[in-house]
Amino acid sequence: MTMNSTGRPTAPASGDLDRSLTDTVSGSRGLLQAEGLLFEIGSIDKSGVDLPEPRNRPDRLGGVRRASALGLPGLSEPEMMRHYVRLSQRNYAIDLGLFPLGSCTMKHNPRLNERMARLPGFADIHPLQPQSTVQGALELMSELADWLMKLTNMPAVAMSPKAGAHGELCGMLAIRAALLARGEPQRRRVLVPASAHGTNPATAVQCGFIVDEIQAAPDGRVDLADLAAKLVESSDVAGIMLTNPNTCGLFERDIVRIAEMIHAAGGYFYCDGANFNAIVGRVRPGDLGVDAMHINLHKTFSTPHGGGGPGSGPTVLSAALAPFAPVPFLVRTEDGLRLVEHEGEGEAAESFGRMCAFHGQMGMFTRALSYILSHGADGLRQVAEDAVLNANYIQASLRGVMSPAFEGYCMHEALFSDAFLKETGVETIDIAKGLIDEGYHPMTTYFPLVVHGAMLVEPTETESKAELDRFISALASVARRALQKDPSLKSAPHMAPVRRLDETRAARSPRLKWTPEASALKAAE
Ligand SMILES: *Cc1c(COP(=O)(O)O)cnc(C)c1O
Repeated sequence: MTMNSTGRPTAPASGDLDRSLTDTVSGSRGLLQAEGLLFEIGSIDKSGVDLPEPRNRPDRLGGVRRASALGLPGLSEPEMMRHYVRLSQRNYAIDLGLFPLGSCTMKHNPRLNERMARLPGFADIHPLQPQSTVQGALELMSELADWLMKLTNMPAVAMSPKAGAHGELCGMLAIRAALLARGEPQRRRVLVPASAHGTNPATAVQCGFIVDEIQAAPDGRVDLADLAAKLVESSDVAGIMLTNPNTCGLFERDIVRIAEMIHAAGGYFYCDGANFNAIVGRVRPGDLGVDAMHINLHKTFSTPHGGGGPGSGPTVLSAALAPFAPVPFLVRTEDGLRLVEHEGEGEAAESFGRMCAFHGQMGMFTRALSYILSHGADGLRQVAEDAVLNANYIQASLRGVMSPAFEGYCMHEALFSDAFLKETGVETIDIAKGLIDEGYHPMTTYFPLVVHGAMLVEPTETESKAELDRFISALASVARRALQKDPSLKSAPHMAPVRRLDETRAARSPRLKWTPEASALKAAE
């Protein structure tokens, strides 16, 4: 196995055909520099700063002053700068190229939004400032809330949830509060389709519900017969969590009927709104019978999401659930806007409580409103139409070489199964790794679980036809190599700085701890 200069493997153990072409002494490839971890390249006797020992200062630490050196590795300033710049060059980013991940909606983040979010009046305020001094920011939150309620035709919105999953928690806690207020604590069963995003069942369990899985029909949508069977005995049904368009990229045609069935059974309808970008401006979830739905501002309304945040998941609520909304929320008074902060009193008498310290992600609110206002109502509708058009263009263009998972048009993402790979020896993961050599981040793989070897591609509306064509030709060429049983695909990527990794072992037994060598520590003292 080839190691880089810091002793970590750069190549797969075997089956690598062109190793001699891509291996280098330094581990660098072209102008992409190999880079170790800080702990590997730093040393504990080095520092980027040179401060004089404080003179004549009485020790104010009492008995807790460290007796020995801390022993953290240090780097000089230029070494440190290079370390982070080199790491940043390893990143694939939406600003570098098309990001085909499905169920994530990686669309361009307009710079106008960034500019607005940096305005000092929004960026430099503090959540503990007196409310009279931040009326402009509260007005912005109120205007965004108004747009979200109009676009969904829902009467209330909780702005504080900080991601889609947090919004799910908000909606399900509101449902639980409503059931308790009805005196029906025994309603604990939540129906979740087999294609659901993992956060849905996780949220239900987190709220003390029991998950009951509904099967998918052969067309990728909810199996109505299975749903009806689960509702025959309905006294314990709390509700359903349904994504629309669903994670197969398909519109749930029977959604109104599903809402009626759930309501007739005494349950509530939670809609996972992560895919709202496919229908915004065209369909209002409130018209479909939805009781609660989160909106991922970082998907539908183009605010950035990377490295786990910062997201924002405002959650719209029906009239039945609105009284249970979390604090804080905004009310308009004669003196302007005011945040209602305390549950159990006044307007928040029935609120289920608080989800986070303050009111939510101000920077994301600013970016989302900027996006909404720059598009306008007609522009938002076109966002949805173009996203669906682009996904269908990809599906139709690749139909000849890959196997679409379902018949007919898709919504905002194109889903392929691994049926076309049968008897080639190539698997979904090899296609994903082959795409890396072609300069693209892989699409979502092996999700949704209802499709074998799933490959889920979401181009978003922000890609031009030229860019889509480039991506299609890259993916088609990888697929054709698979059909020709090209063995080199099994060890792709070949060009990336890091080769095929043992991802299972990385996840199961990660090396998370660094221990300085005792001898080095001694020397530093
Ligand atoms: C992204 C996504 C979520 C979770 O949203 P986060 O903002 O990542 O917490 C939930 N459901 C679906 C279908 C999603 O695509």
